[in-house]
Amino acid sequence: MNDDNSRALYDRALSVMPGGVNSAVRAAIEPYPFFVQKGDGGHVIDADGNRYLDWVMGLGPLLLGHDLPDPVRAGIQRKASEGPMYGTPTEVEVDLAEFVVRHVPSVEKIRFVNSGTEATVSAVRLARGYTGRNKIVINQGGYHGAQESTLVDGDADDPRPSSAGIPQSFSEHTIPVPFNDEEAVREAFEKHGDDIAAVLTEPILGNYGIVHPAEGYHEFLRDVTDEHGSLLIFDEVITGFRVGGLGCAQTEFGVTPDLTTFGKIVGGGFPVGAIGGRAEIIEQFAPAGPVFQAGTFSGHPVTMVAGLETLQFAAENGVYEHVDELGDRLRDGLSEIVADQAPEYTVAGTASMFKVIFTRDGEAPKNAADVKNAETDRWRRVFWGQMKERGIFLSQNQFECQFVSYGHTDEDVDRTLEAYKEAL
Ligand code: PLP
Repeated sequence: MNDDNSRALYDRALSVMPGGVNSAVRAAIEPYPFFVQKGDGGHVIDADGNRYLDWVMGLGPLLLGHDLPDPVRAGIQRKASEGPMYGTPTEVEVDLAEFVVRHVPSVEKIRFVNSGTEATVSAVRLARGYTGRNKIVINQGGYHGAQESTLVDGDADDPRPSSAGIPQSFSEHTIPVPFNDEEAVREAFEKHGDDIAAVLTEPILGNYGIVHPAEGYHEFLRDVTDEHGSLLIFDEVITGFRVGGLGCAQTEFGVTPDLTTFGKIVGGGFPVGAIGGRAEIIEQFAPAGPVFQAGTFSGHPVTMVAGLETLQFAAENGVYEHVDELGDRLRDGLSEIVADQAPEYTVAGTASMFKVIFTRDGEAPKNAADVKNAETDRWRRVFWGQMKERGIFLSQNQFECQFVSYGHTDEDVDRTLEAYKEAL
């Protein structure tokens, strides 16, 4: 595969951008990432003209794939041509807010921001402001963006910043516990119950190999937060408008959080985040309440129209049926291959999320430690050495999940299964 142009672009990028990239995880494709020229349905074409079948889909936002259907494309073009933004409200912000409120039962009010990170930063501040408490409980292996309160390693007794540049005193307000560990959560509440503002969790860990919640785990989190007057925040930046369709993962699990953070799909491929939830809590955001929150680009009209048209198209055109069916075919096919060729591995995922995890015992991981104990270094050999050479673009490491889009076809699934069969 010729990659001269990508290599030349990477050299240029390295001299003007740290690590040659604008987001840490993009650098994980070694020795250098391929640079994309354009998308095409379920595929991307790189700077050297190589075509890849794309299961990364922008790391999640592209529910419809790279070819936006007419109403979505036309809406975006119309808005952009009317002047991109104004610094005063527009109707389409209200339209998208109403759409989300209509479809996600826990969301009575919503505020739009510009990224998933901004959404979780604001949700944590809101929870602290609403409850008057300081601490938050998070899950080890959960990812909530590049923010100070959640870039935390260690455990409940020894929380430490996971990045340089974060004061230890920030991490002291965060309590990391293993996913699916009710006992650890109970202990945290026994020790700090009256100072815990919220439990913040992804409904399904989507940034650490895909880990599913144990039966009853989210119900337990709902009960324990209620008991102690804390909030339950679901971070649905990945699962929102993907798992459980327009109702999101919370309707699939039948658990109602107080707050939900959104990102990715709700902006139809443009920069977005949102915090939705009970009106009484969301009303604490300024200017209605005392919790400051603001953003020049928040509720950007082009993003809002892209999100609204994407979700409306999904509602009216069987998008979830399509992506979930292909997801089932992929997971079933991969499970057969793994059973036959590498029974120690595990196939994880649901709806349009999937991942092969290089576990050592064929047991589905229950938490981040189980994924960490997998043969994670294998990923590089399988992706870089095998799948990419076969023209299949998978997420850049063992931890991030992969996504099916409306642009994918049965043939794409067949080709991918064939490639996995050879690669594994
Ligand atoms: N929360 C979750 C669950 C995510 O997966 C991500 C990003 O992948 C974020 C928050 C941060 O979103 P963003 O990258 O848009 O800041």
